[in-house]
Amino acid sequence: AAKAAGRNHYRMFDAGLRERLETRRDLERDLSTALAEAALEVWFQPIYAMDAETLVGLEALVRWQHPRLGWIAPPDLIATAATAGLTESLLRYILEQVCAMMQILRSRGLGTVRVAMNVSPREMAQVPVDEIVIERLQALDLPPALLEIEITEETALDIGAVQGKLQALSRAGIRVALDDFGIGYSSLSSLRQLRADRIKIDRSFVTGLGTCDDKRGLVLAVLGLGRLLGLEVVAEGVESDEELRILQTMGCPFLQGYHLGRPMPESVLEATLFPARIAAA
Ligand code: C2E
Ligand code: MG
Ligand code: MG
Ligand code: MG
Repeated sequence: AAKAAGRNHYRMFDAGLRERLETRRDLERDLSTALAEAALEVWFQPIYAMDAETLVGLEALVRWQHPRLGWIAPPDLIATAATAGLTESLLRYILEQVCAMMQILRSRGLGTVRVAMNVSPREMAQVPVDEIVIERLQALDLPPALLEIEITEETALDIGAVQGKLQALSRAGIRVALDDFGIGYSSLSSLRQLRADRIKIDRSFVTGLGTCDDKRGLVLAVLGLGRLLGLEVVAEGVESDEELRILQTMGCPFLQGYHLGRPMPESVLEATLFPARIAAA
């Protein structure tokens, strides 16, 4: 009986596993198709100066609307690319759209607006990100200082594999931002190891700032750290006018969040943000 139960149990597990593997393999195949058919989108979220009016940057965020499953969360998409062996293809795909946006900005007279691109720890460790990025910028004659690479501190876990790349990016004039700052254990040592130019305060410290003194203290501390180390600080996840005003009072130099602007496709940027900027210029 025990044997039978064991077999049954095993069989059930096996069926579940097979199902999961098939789902995973389907998703990998669909992602491969989406890349080949250019069906993935890259949306852009505005980053503003302290006045909450001067556009200083755009963060590129990948978007995939799966034909049956709907919107796939970016971290799931990145994980699927990894198991499908598509990590480098995905990075190149997103980089092309980032470069295209840099060209659009230049043509709209917004040539000082920086574009930020997220690079996962795995992409950073396994792909020659430095060579690929530097080559594309050169080929398209785009200024390296207008591109920013956003990494997270888990990137430091494989510091041997990434240090040379980060140095090469830095030497080429490309900026490095440490994303989601404050949620890991080793934020301070990561900052040094990863040679960040900029810190993005994780939105868990920003959202709800109005009602939480602890968060206020943490944000003030990070702003002080930024000043001390000569790093620019961006607050992510500004969702309300109250949060915005608190951050302005604290002197937070850069701001990003739904309250200031959601991630949007290029067509929406063209229709809303760019004309306003040109009119103001
Ligand atoms: P992240 O780099 O920290 O990006 C910020 C995330 O917060 C984005 O989610 C953005 O839509 C969301 N967000 C922005 N403002 C607000 C706000 O005011 N409130 C709230 N609740 N959320 C806000 P998204 O696009 O779902 O991306 C999630 C994460 O996936 C990103 O976190 C980033 O780590 C990763 N990711 C996104 N696009 C890419 C990509 O192209 N490549 C790589 N490697 N990773 C990406
Ligand atoms: Mg980011
Ligand atoms: Mg972040
Ligand atoms: Mg994040």
